[in-house]
Amino acid sequence: MTDGQGQRGARRTLVTGGAGFIGSHLVRLLLARGDRVVVVDDLSTGRRENLAGFDDGSGRLVCVYTDLATALREQGPAAGAFDEVYHLAAAVGVRLVIDEPISSIETNVMQTAALLRRVLADGACTRVMIASSSEVYGKADKSPFSEEDDVVYGPTSKSRWSYACSKAIDEYLSQAYFQKHGLPAVVARFFNTVGPRQVGHYGMVLPNFVAAALAGRDIEVYGDGRQTRCFCDVRDVAQALPRLLESSACHGRVFNVGSDVPVSIGALADRVISVLASRSRRVLVAYDRAYGPGFEDLKQRQPDLRRLRSAIGFEPAIGLDQTIRDVASWMTGEEVIRGAVRSPSAGSRGAVAT
Ligand code: UDP
Repeated sequence: MTDGQGQRGARRTLVTGGAGFIGSHLVRLLLARGDRVVVVDDLSTGRRENLAGFDDGSGRLVCVYTDLATALREQGPAAGAFDEVYHLAAAVGVRLVIDEPISSIETNVMQTAALLRRVLADGACTRVMIASSSEVYGKADKSPFSEEDDVVYGPTSKSRWSYACSKAIDEYLSQAYFQKHGLPAVVARFFNTVGPRQVGHYGMVLPNFVAAALAGRDIEVYGDGRQTRCFCDVRDVAQALPRLLESSACHGRVFNVGSDVPVSIGALADRVISVLASRSRRVLVAYDRAYGPGFEDLKQRQPDLRRLRSAIGFEPAIGLDQTIRDVASWMTGEEVIRGAVRSPSAGSRGAVAT
């Protein structure tokens, strides 16, 4: 793939899944630092509206709306023509994987394999970020999760764990390319990333809660609500990614990326209600009803951030209450991105309903 511009000088960056939730925040950041950015996104969960207004007419943003395999096959010479590749294209979220296991597994494993093969064939000096997930830790009964911990999955009869396995294979691949070929690849394991442009279709808790609170509907807390998660604003997460790729000491390594402050899901519901001054009530919903029979939820999930902190001095800057307010503003029609406020298209508002 080429960026189609033939420009020289600026960093050339490919973002797969660039029209998605995390991808679009990253694209904004990369454009702001002066990169020429190519987005490849099949719009399965990404949305064009997420990139609305990003193109300043300079030609530094090129969007290719097709799946990655097709883009790699059909587009121009080289994934290796890029200085950096952020591979965020993936089947996202436990709910989607339960609903669509075959395509989710295929998307997560085959596209990553094809991308890495292509980068290597094109010269292997491209720095590659592989997006992974805290799901990779599975249901290990340990807290916090450290990058070198053992992982524990349920049986293959429970499709929930296929997501974790597919992401683990991506991680193995990326590290094998580093070890065997010196490909400068970094794995980011995201922990419960939240913020504007995240939609609730795929089971994500915060957009579901904010949408319910705005509508005055009951907020559905699954299980007993005592399970905990650590939520990190997507704008903080996006900042960490280029910094991880920049440092050669990070190449070939896996990093937890997120916040390490636990919040119970019941407390999250209360916080959303209070921050948004909503009249919603929180109600408990059994896991079987929420996800179907046999679903195994994690009681807690907290990252050990020592490796990330020592590598890039990462500290999240945006607090949860601010994120809740910004998600609500985005859902009600104002998009709040690092101080800038603008209106998304009607299309993006329409996609938020949960
Ligand atoms: N959850 C909930 N209500 C919802 C969606 C999710 O109570 O409408 C719970 C879910 O069961 C889990 C937590 O919130 O315990 C976080 O869910 P999410 O899907 O956002 O992330 P993950 O399960 O991957 O941590």
